[in-house]
Amino acid sequence: MSTETETTAQYVKPGRHADAPTQKDLDRCVHCGLCLNACPTYRELGVEMDSPRGRIYQMVQVATGQVPLNPVYTEHMDLCLGCRACETACPSGVEYGKLIEAARTELNATRPKSFFRRTLEGVVFGHLLGSRWMLSMVGSSLWLYQATGLQSLVRATGILKLLGLAEIEKLTPVSERPTFFGQLGKVFPAEGAPKKKVALLAGCMQNVFFARLNEATVRVLQKNGCEVHVVAEQTCCGALHAHSGFRDEARALARQNIDAMVDGGFDAIISNTGGCGATLKEYDHLLEHDAAYAPRAQRFVGLMRDVNEFLASLDLNLNMKPIQARVTYQDSCHLAHGQKVTKAPRQLIARIPGITLVEMPNASICCGSAGIYNVVQNELAMEILSSKMGNVNLTKADRVISSNPGCMLQLRAGEKLHGQNRPVQHVVELLDEAYRA
Ligand code: SF4
Ligand code: SF4
Repeated sequence: MSTETETTAQYVKPGRHADAPTQKDLDRCVHCGLCLNACPTYRELGVEMDSPRGRIYQMVQVATGQVPLNPVYTEHMDLCLGCRACETACPSGVEYGKLIEAARTELNATRPKSFFRRTLEGVVFGHLLGSRWMLSMVGSSLWLYQATGLQSLVRATGILKLLGLAEIEKLTPVSERPTFFGQLGKVFPAEGAPKKKVALLAGCMQNVFFARLNEATVRVLQKNGCEVHVVAEQTCCGALHAHSGFRDEARALARQNIDAMVDGGFDAIISNTGGCGATLKEYDHLLEHDAAYAPRAQRFVGLMRDVNEFLASLDLNLNMKPIQARVTYQDSCHLAHGQKVTKAPRQLIARIPGITLVEMPNASICCGSAGIYNVVQNELAMEILSSKMGNVNLTKADRVISSNPGCMLQLRAGEKLHGQNRPVQHVVELLDEAYRA
């Protein structure tokens, strides 16, 4: 009979990075392989080392010291989308999202980097995402590039193809004017008697590239009796930092958001972005070793709601005009697999009069967006997108709906490349359209 000592024998070599995968988390995997078919990289590549089970096995090998942190290990970890579909499929409760973030944090601290990469990461993760003025500058430059016709000119010269940037450039979001930064610090009254007082997370790049989505979210919440506070002191949620292995930078942003909102007397803190929401709901894990912030992080997480789950929990305002459309819904990975919210967006869509919701095959499999994955792993991301668009096209839908701006950008690129240029919208944009019709 195996003893307690035998089953929990320590194998992790000492002296590892403080955020490296722990034996407790690694040991949950029993290597059954039930997650393999849910994994987009395994489905595309058919390679065990690019499956969840294979990646966890490699993490164990690194933890035991059998394998060093070498380029092969790095490549397999980098190819993971971090979509967490394996978590939903796993019967053993493996928290794969935690494991891949931990593995990347350890890699990030130890892998050799070129001067260019170090500088770029320093600017993006150390400054840009948390800085309003830097994001505004990037937004203004991009707006000039797009509005003056320079973008079309550059595309026509063929220089992007020569530089190998043509595919990545197609993913460039449209810089929206005015940005949502002007709304920070404002309070939007509820329509009718106020029922809830909520705070809205405006995001970072979303203020520039999805300003209209944020405005639609405010209007839909107002229509449903919410007084909406866009707290000025909020900042980027830190999701991209945490997913890329910059956990200390993510922690600094988490502390700022907690201080900005947790004591505001809100009934809920709302995110309209599946990817951000999953990280915001895991601030307690991110700050579990911070004695000063751990209890505040737990209170913050208790208030966090994705906009879909929040609206679906209310007595929804049904004073809508019909929208005659056939739509299909693409799950946001971090909403479906990170937050386990799949029914609420479908319920909301189905309550709009005139709408026919058609399910696509494998709606909960990633579209290839995955934060900045479609930029840094463009080739595989485009293969995954191609499979996704095949499934979208089967539905014969007029519109594609999602709950995450990153997915929306990727699906819009997919519509141009493989689809029929159908509109791609967020659930709240569809609701807003029905309320405003
Ligand atoms: S992650 Fe879960 S489903 Fe996948 S091999 Fe391990 S135990 Fe099985
Ligand atoms: S997170 Fe996604 S890509 Fe990574 S192993 Fe899990 S299912 Fe595969």
